[in-house]
Amino acid sequence: MSYIKYADIIIDISHENLDKTYQYFVPEEYIPEAVIGSLVVVPFGKGNRYINGYIVELSESPKLDKALIKPIKEVVVDAPVIESRLIYLAYWIKETFGGTMNEALKTVIPVKKAVKGKEKKSIRLIVDGDNALKLYYEYQKKNNAARARLLEALLKEPILDYEEVIHNLNISRNTLLGLEKLGITETISEQVYRNPIKGQIQSENKIELNDQQLRIVTKIKEEYTAGIRAPYLIHGITGSGKTEVYMDIIASVIDQKRQVILLIPEIALTYQTVMRFYKRFGDRISIMNSRMSQGERYDQSLRAQNGEIDIIIGPRSALFTPFPNLGLIIIDEEHENSYKSETTPKYHAVLTAMKRAELEGASTILGSATPSLESYEKALSKEYQLFTLNKRANNAVLPKVWIVDLREELRNKNKSIFSEKLRELINDRLTKKEQIMLFLNRRGYSGFVSCRSCGHVMKCPHCDVSLTSHNNGKMVCHYCGHEEALPGLCPECNSKYIAAFGTGTQKVEELVSREFPQARVLRMDMDTTKAKDSHEKILDAFAKHQADILVGTQMIVKGHDFPKVTLVGIIAADLSLYTGDFRASERTFQLLCQAVGRAGRGEVFGEVVIQTYHPEHYSILTAAENNYENFYHQEMLYRKMMQYPPAAHILLLLITSKEESKAEKAAIRIGEAVKERKGEQTQLQVMGPAPASIAKANDIYRRVIYLKHEDYNFLVDIKNYLEGFFKFSQSFAGCNLQFDFDPMNSY
Ligand code: ADP
Ligand code: ZN
Ligand code: ZN
Repeated sequence: MSYIKYADIIIDISHENLDKTYQYFVPEEYIPEAVIGSLVVVPFGKGNRYINGYIVELSESPKLDKALIKPIKEVVVDAPVIESRLIYLAYWIKETFGGTMNEALKTVIPVKKAVKGKEKKSIRLIVDGDNALKLYYEYQKKNNAARARLLEALLKEPILDYEEVIHNLNISRNTLLGLEKLGITETISEQVYRNPIKGQIQSENKIELNDQQLRIVTKIKEEYTAGIRAPYLIHGITGSGKTEVYMDIIASVIDQKRQVILLIPEIALTYQTVMRFYKRFGDRISIMNSRMSQGERYDQSLRAQNGEIDIIIGPRSALFTPFPNLGLIIIDEEHENSYKSETTPKYHAVLTAMKRAELEGASTILGSATPSLESYEKALSKEYQLFTLNKRANNAVLPKVWIVDLREELRNKNKSIFSEKLRELINDRLTKKEQIMLFLNRRGYSGFVSCRSCGHVMKCPHCDVSLTSHNNGKMVCHYCGHEEALPGLCPECNSKYIAAFGTGTQKVEELVSREFPQARVLRMDMDTTKAKDSHEKILDAFAKHQADILVGTQMIVKGHDFPKVTLVGIIAADLSLYTGDFRASERTFQLLCQAVGRAGRGEVFGEVVIQTYHPEHYSILTAAENNYENFYHQEMLYRKMMQYPPAAHILLLLITSKEESKAEKAAIRIGEAVKERKGEQTQLQVMGPAPASIAKANDIYRRVIYLKHEDYNFLVDIKNYLEGFFKFSQSFAGCNLQFDFDPMNSY
């Protein structure tokens, strides 16, 4: 039995107002072909001229008077255009992760915006390196300090920001004009993403791959050339040469006239990384970042669509680059949180990449030193092909790791945040003029409650996650809403040293300066990196050894290489271990592995001190041994026992409202609707409603409900049901409902 169908058609997909759709009637003969994403020809406007459009939604009932709805003239079947596939991808995202079609389209389709990005001026070196060096020495000799200073900077980075040159390097406009007249530099105003080393591809010093790398490259290339499209996971420790592997495979894919998307977390998208790719691939590459304006991104899309580039490198959103013949998607550091969107649709880039690759006939490579449990499980069950790189490519050895028991320190009357071991090693490095990183692995909110005498952590009796202390003297579980009073004494050992945990980076910096007055200290955290480029500046100063100690959050453990760092101290590994999030052990393991990977990157042997109240915790032990497999198996036991992903799936419902009573009522109502829908499905677990861990943000009240089920599709079914229920019920006025599948963040 066939229903008459109506199709919402979008006429101009690059229009900023993507919800501007027009409804048409689908003639019976076209019903089989009319699917979401189909290219159609429709009569448009008063004159009924024929124009192209795409189907973005299908429905059984008309939105307006039937008599006013025109029929589609034709569904174009043999025109698989890039837009069709992206529209279909948007539809898949909406179905899989929730949200409206319009929100999904805005995520996937590059939107044309009239406003261009602010013009950005740069200074560029236009003589070659040797000549620039000669000139530099000449100016130094002639005491022309300004010119020398600029050349020195340009020798390091061939292209510099104009404002930075004027203000930070303190170069006058006259000096610039002088160098320009001599044909040494030029001022250019172009988009940030243009290749700074035009044309010159320098492939002379191409690295020779080692056996492990070669095996991976050969296998993937062979399969690719044989037409096999598949997902791969490369589990390779930091510095094992994954990037070299990517580059070789990319080269082979673009030789076959197909294009490549490489996703890298923004924080790792450093100048050094970008230059490595430019040197190998020259002008055929483009870089995307979140600081770009809509207009700049749109330009990028056009270049991709017109075949001007073969490779795009960028964060999550680069996944939707409209390449005409996409052949490969690579996701580096695939375990990173930033691959999950924090706004609706809350899609995960890894799963979405798999879908896009399937639609386009492309392969996918995931890479990480600490793969997500989700991905590794798929690799073990042969859904992804697994490769391992377990040696550092440049033969650097992994550092020696000390685990220090902080309970022991308290027993020995050491109340400082530095254990004896850490203090001894800091002094040693300061004397030797080597560098130190002190790392506070604090993520999001903290505030778990623990005993400093025995290390006991207050946990929820129902969820096995830590309770979070609130100002009102209570502890709350953010999964189920369980609440209890803050204990005065430790329930395990009766010690009075039980309290909410929390030490800020600023505090650590203060204490460092007090205990090691001779040391020069830099701090990097959210506060010190608010200004543009401040992140790079701090790292740069540290790289130049303008400081002995760098104190920071997880920001400091990513990206950069500091060969002079021979000591890494983790102040309290527990900070990320008890965040009230079921992924806490995984995050801790990842952060510790990264921190360990920071020490001893150069010639000199490195050491790491991990301070903790839980020296026996498997996250800490396995990270200290750099033993991913061991960690994986232990963590999977926990996930299976508690039915957390990937053993099962979670659907988080976030209910928000400006009025607390409305949020509360809506949450209860939705909770009931879930239970009605659940019916005989005893497998479905419903937790909550409960106040979110951030129970109020920007004056908006937040309630959460967690649903757990083994079958993802069952949760999708609940989501669809709730979407309808929410939309059509009057009682939810002034409230908002959001979905998050297998959440990565605490709510
Ligand atoms: P990853 O991406 O796994 O962290 P990289 O590809 O960045 O590793 O490699 C780490 C370092 O080792 C880089 O400086 C790189 O140039 C170097 N390297 C990679 N492969 C080799 C190799 N086969 N021989 C020598 N050095 C290599
Ligand atoms: Zn205790
Ligand atoms: Zn609980």
